[in-house]
Amino acid sequence: MSGNTVIGLLGGGQLGRMLCEAANPLGVDIAILDEENAPAKQAHDTNRHVTGSFKDAAKIRELAAHSDYLSVEIEHVETEVLEDIEKNGVQVELADGSTTTHKPPIHPSWRTIRLIQDKYLQKEHYRTATKLDIPIAEQMAIASGDGALDALKEAAEKFGFPFMLKARKGSYDGRGNFKVSSGEDFGPAVKALGKLPLYAEKWAPFVKELAVMVIKTKDEPGAEKSCVPYPAVETIHEDSICTKVFMPPRQVSAEVCENARELACRVVGTLWGRGVFAVEMFVLEDGSLMVNEVAPRPHNSGHYTIEAVPQMSQYQAQIHAVLDLPVPEKLIPRVNAAIMLNILGGAKPDSHHGLSRLARETFGEDMDVYLHLYGKESKPGRKIGHITLTGFKDIADLEEKAQPFISLVDKIRQ
Ligand code: ATP
Ligand code: MG
Ligand code: MG
Repeated sequence: MSGNTVIGLLGGGQLGRMLCEAANPLGVDIAILDEENAPAKQAHDTNRHVTGSFKDAAKIRELAAHSDYLSVEIEHVETEVLEDIEKNGVQVELADGSTTTHKPPIHPSWRTIRLIQDKYLQKEHYRTATKLDIPIAEQMAIASGDGALDALKEAAEKFGFPFMLKARKGSYDGRGNFKVSSGEDFGPAVKALGKLPLYAEKWAPFVKELAVMVIKTKDEPGAEKSCVPYPAVETIHEDSICTKVFMPPRQVSAEVCENARELACRVVGTLWGRGVFAVEMFVLEDGSLMVNEVAPRPHNSGHYTIEAVPQMSQYQAQIHAVLDLPVPEKLIPRVNAAIMLNILGGAKPDSHHGLSRLARETFGEDMDVYLHLYGKESKPGRKIGHITLTGFKDIADLEEKAQPFISLVDKIRQ
């Protein structure tokens, strides 16, 4: 054992892997709870990893017993056990054979994770924080099972078509969403999602989607002033999966970007615990903003910070926030523009090879190229890596220079 501070992490995918990459030079140990050879474990050699599921209470306790802090790289974890660990701790055996109670601080709080897990309750929480004026789409809970059809009719009367039917829990990359465009979609929507707890959301006629990463440095809610926002970025979703990120957003005014950062801090300020959070938002035609959802952890839309905000990337920020170390008062990008392209697995295991080759072989004038592969087996639609491109001129110039990459990314998806 190295004697380093240990953060026990529930989940060891690519976010955990990049967290480990940030932790290594800081001399912080990340103990991962996930399956053998998970992407994060490949990037960080320690005898503290635990093999098992981040939904397994006994394994979470085992991790807690040898961690100084606990955190998550995914929100779909078991929160009952986190609550119990916070309140009662875990028993650990000392060298002399006696036992003691160990209570590693958990960031973000299990309260935040539990609230965010249920997207309907998450947004009700923002709605009831009305003093803060957090705009969200109108929503209504939908009965599952036999009552679902009637409830969908009611939602259609209330919201009109189209509207979005969403699973309240467990969804990611849009997998729990169903766009209901007419009464003919009721049957298929119920068939697809009807067994799950559901809610309906009024359609948000957005012109852009933005995201803002926020560092929250104080435990308690009401701590809006303790939130430090990264720049606003534009996120592009195709088939509900994030494929591209642009910093700064294209054709969005500086004022709207500033409003987005301010709104993101207001939203994150209502939550419990420290850490980085992603706030996903819609921009409507009139430039007004609406909050879609929050992720209580580093996020795909913040990968660009590794190279574009080396002052402190979202991964370094997560470590600093969890350990209660200082963070900058202002986050200032090193470059004027950045583009992040997700590498999704194509039809064949080697569909992405041309793209990674291009990344390795390109040394552009005023375009730097950074390839990240996650050590995952390629499967169609699976996030297996990303490429960040940075430039000093502006986003239009960088987008033009990045075209060969953008075309290849799009081609893999066809
Ligand atoms: P993630 O992988 O970000 O966790 P998710 O499965 O939780 O995704 P959402 O963020 O709810 O799904 O929705 C995915 C995408 O679907 C959004 O980014 C947006 O493009 C679209 N979408 C969601 N809600 C609405 C809405 N009310 N109106 C219009 N489009 C929507
Ligand atoms: Mg989500
Ligand atoms: Mg989302």
